[in-house]
Amino acid sequence: MIAGGRSINYLRISVTDRCNFRCKYCVPSSPLKVIAHKKIARYEEILRITKLACDLGITKVRITGGEPFVRKGILNFLEQLCTIERLKDISITTNGALLTQEKIERLIKMGINRLNFSLDTLNPQKFFKITQRDRFQKVWDVIHTAHKLGITPIKINAVILRGLNDDEIEEITGLTLKYPFHIRFIEYMPMGDSDVEKKQQILTDEIIEKIETRYGKLIPIQRSKNDGPAKKYQIPNARGIVGFITAISSHFCSDCNRLRLTSRGTLRPCLLNNYEKDILNPLRNGATDEELKEIILTALTKKPAFHGLSDSNAKGIPISHMTSIGG
Ligand code: SAM
Ligand code: SF4
Repeated sequence: MIAGGRSINYLRISVTDRCNFRCKYCVPSSPLKVIAHKKIARYEEILRITKLACDLGITKVRITGGEPFVRKGILNFLEQLCTIERLKDISITTNGALLTQEKIERLIKMGINRLNFSLDTLNPQKFFKITQRDRFQKVWDVIHTAHKLGITPIKINAVILRGLNDDEIEEITGLTLKYPFHIRFIEYMPMGDSDVEKKQQILTDEIIEKIETRYGKLIPIQRSKNDGPAKKYQIPNARGIVGFITAISSHFCSDCNRLRLTSRGTLRPCLLNNYEKDILNPLRNGATDEELKEIILTALTKKPAFHGLSDSNAKGIPISHMTSIGG
């Protein structure tokens, strides 16, 4: 599938808008409305849409949410997803808190070897402040269990906010000296009615400056064909990699190969643009495979050339939260 000159082969599937955490940058402190169960795409519906998207050229899927592991039956669903022949790569983004050794072993057995964990701090008290949950030790242990069981690469996503965890940039980066982890600093993106203030936003240049002051010049890593949007580097003598997702300071829209399927069963061609196309209701109303493929292709014609968030007056702030779209 081609959209605005970009070849689209990557589908991000949000399986739920629900989450066991309340990360400050992701959900507002005001009560969050969840989507009624009957409006959430059922697993068999997600599988049908995914198979059709694969017929059209999708080869890579990432499962996200909300928190994917809060949804009942997720492992059975993933097993079925793994049987889709055209899918060459399946990965999951998770906060890790609900994973166990048994579940990770089952993931490996079904062929899922890549996990992205979200971890914004190495300090248990701060972890509580960010997520509203006292789960640092559990998440830390799960990451190490995954590492010992051979999950590779282990990617760790960190969103840095001024006054919250910007004093930990160096320490988080330092994990790459000890472990072959890929740390990815993600620029905070304003979404929905977020509680984060503009002055808390930190852009990549400032993070790099702090890292280089501590560890010396970052060594750029050659990009390979299947690389995502992260700009990747190593600190001298590191085993792991440090990457930067510069969604705000230097957008990568011209290379964006993604389409999203939200838990509400809408196709969203751009995370940071409010356009969505419903595919779930046509499916429930009896649309044929050909009609559903047409809906996928139509959604992609609306993939914008670039998003509006780098705009300093932030006209383009998406109205949905990350939990309802899928980060
Ligand atoms: N619950 C899972 C997790 O936390 O990994 C998966 C869903 S979460 C929405 C996916 C990713 O989005 C996480 O790495 C999180 O840090 C990131 N994220 C959430 N809100 C964000 C925001 N406003 N700006 C940038 N990244 C955000
Ligand atoms: Fe939940 Fe992930 Fe959002 Fe945190 S970032 S609230 S873990 S969906």
